[in-house]
Amino acid sequence: MTKSDKKLGMDRPITRRDFVHGVGTIGAAVAFAGPLSACGEKTTSKPTEYPPKFTGMRGNHDSSFTVAHALSREGKTDWGPVQNIEDQYDLVIVGAGISGLAAACFYRQKRPDARILILDNHDDFGGHAKRNEFEIGGRTYLTHGGSMFLTSPYGYSDVVKNLLSDLGVDFSRLVKSVDFGLYARHGLYGAFHFNKEKWGRSATVGASLSYAFNGPENPNISAKEMIDQFPVSQKARQELLHLFTIEADQLPDLSQEEKVAYLKKTSYRDFLIQQIGVTEQDVFDFLQDHTADMGLGIEACDAYLAMTYAGMPGWPATGIETYEKEDLTGFHMFPDGNASVTRLMVRSLIPDVAPGNTMEDVVMAPFDYGKLDQSSSGVRIRLNSTVINASNDGDGTQISYVREEKAYRVKAKKCVLACNNAVIPYICPELPDEQKEALSNQVRQPILSNRVLVKNWHAWKELGIQEVLAPGGFHTSIGLNLPMNLGGYSCPQEPDEPTIIGMFRYPHVNNEGLTAQEQFRMGRHELLTTPFEDIERHIRTELDELLGNHGFNAAEDIEAIIVNRWAHGYAYSHNFHTLFDQDYDDPDDKRYPHVKGRKPIGNISIANSDSGADAMLECAIDQAYRAVSELQAV
Ligand SMILES: Cc1cc2nc3c(=O)[nH]c(=O)nc-3n(C[C@H](O)[C@H](O)[C@H](O)COP(=O)(O)OP(=O)(O)OC[C@H]3O[C@@H](n4cnc5c(N)ncnc54)[C@H](O)[C@@H]3O)c2cc1C
Repeated sequence: MTKSDKKLGMDRPITRRDFVHGVGTIGAAVAFAGPLSACGEKTTSKPTEYPPKFTGMRGNHDSSFTVAHALSREGKTDWGPVQNIEDQYDLVIVGAGISGLAAACFYRQKRPDARILILDNHDDFGGHAKRNEFEIGGRTYLTHGGSMFLTSPYGYSDVVKNLLSDLGVDFSRLVKSVDFGLYARHGLYGAFHFNKEKWGRSATVGASLSYAFNGPENPNISAKEMIDQFPVSQKARQELLHLFTIEADQLPDLSQEEKVAYLKKTSYRDFLIQQIGVTEQDVFDFLQDHTADMGLGIEACDAYLAMTYAGMPGWPATGIETYEKEDLTGFHMFPDGNASVTRLMVRSLIPDVAPGNTMEDVVMAPFDYGKLDQSSSGVRIRLNSTVINASNDGDGTQISYVREEKAYRVKAKKCVLACNNAVIPYICPELPDEQKEALSNQVRQPILSNRVLVKNWHAWKELGIQEVLAPGGFHTSIGLNLPMNLGGYSCPQEPDEPTIIGMFRYPHVNNEGLTAQEQFRMGRHELLTTPFEDIERHIRTELDELLGNHGFNAAEDIEAIIVNRWAHGYAYSHNFHTLFDQDYDDPDDKRYPHVKGRKPIGNISIANSDSGADAMLECAIDQAYRAVSELQAV
């Protein structure tokens, strides 16, 4: 152990390594999986592990992708003797994410007695909608491991609204659960953090921006006061001030439609050069990764999206008047993010799994994972089970999967593939080549979404910050957990209390002329080859640099770390990548790869958010409805 690692506390016995590098995960999986007999499926009733409390490497934890990668990368097809499972199902669903669980709900609406088996390769259900749960001093701290909130739910389709309503989700109640004023009441606002390694000196500067960056701004700081504190050249300061304060329309000769068309085909970087006159490298470096939420830097992200979605500065220069910054006070969110939506679905499909029947009581309801896969239940969720083949077989289907290194085959009348598109060509070889190619086109955006439980938040209070954007950092966004109170869960109110810090990285490759798909593949490689220890070191180093002068000490103050690794994250969205892809306006245009890719074949249909080319929860549900409708029409 190096001296610097010791100072960071890399040797401290925090809860982080109990499930690192697959060893603990496999052990835990075995502990709660329950035995399968050669010809039937036994009930699991013994006390079980509770995955939301696992720490260390989570999200796509190590053992979750071993089988799928052996199949897709090494062409492995032989997992030894296959055990045929005698139980027959009406429906097998591949993937226990939002889409797979919604598919089960829709199928049961039409056929309440249908026997359904849901298979997922992870040790927890929910797909990206995972719950992270910490416990310290007898108190529970909740947060989202991936999918966070319901975005603009009043605009959801009736299909989505009805399903959520059936599950008990009340938007007007949900929106009140976020206490937006808490941090402002403590005098905490958004800021930028410049790290010493990249910027020559370390500086944390309050954010004062209009039309710029989604995040909590500090109303007490003017744009000039803020920019004057940036560790950048004098010329860069002038250019930034011009960018943040520009009012004049720089595109006066274009109609409103032409302006939008121009912005959608121009990178934000080129917009800065062509319309704002930016020349300084410091300016580009400062702005470079603030679009990274969409997976790309400013040279690969179109100017329209950069300003409307990511809130980048310069909008008045477009002369377009219609854009209004999103009102973040309208956040609709559970304390564990969209994990509660999946918990509601699981509880409605398998009532034995948890007590209660409301949106409120699901938040703290104890979930018994031993009840997920019981022979007495009409719906069963089998975790740690990677599907390796789904085929039409006579007038039904047969599905093979690997679990604990053994292969099983199960028969079902129908099958919904609610897994990500990229794996479908490998597990469903009977698909036509053109469809396989279309499915492979949907490369998901990788995301690292880390959570750190700390003893208190005094340093944040002293600094007057609640969230920083960190240009050039390993994590480009670092902030206190969104304060939420719902269903008996209450968030930390005072800086003396432990709290959760969120740290985000969106791996991509800047300025090398790569397409979105190429960048996402490289980002995925980065995520899958970076060990937990390296990420922990980044976490400790960055928190020490940000907060170290204000009483925080990473070696002493970190209680636990969860790294949520999403190698296959957001679904690929064509209208997000207009610099690389054709934008056909209609999301169901038959020329789109996702539309070509989602055609059913025999008794197998395809759900999941990839098949709607939109990463959001509502798309995952809409696509589940379509996939189930297609099966019922067969
Ligand atoms: C970090 C992050 C934050 C997000 N935030 C939001 C948000 O705030 N709001 C929002 O609406 N959306 C958000 N999303 C988008 C999210 O992807 C969708 O909302 C939704 O959860 C997608 O559901 P899905 O079922 O389509 O896919 P997934 O969640 O990916 O579920 C598919 C499941 O199938 C499994 N699977 C794949 N292959 C196999 C196989 N061969 N055998 C068995 N199982 C398999 C996968 O491992 C996975 O568990 C976020 C995503 C990420 C990664």
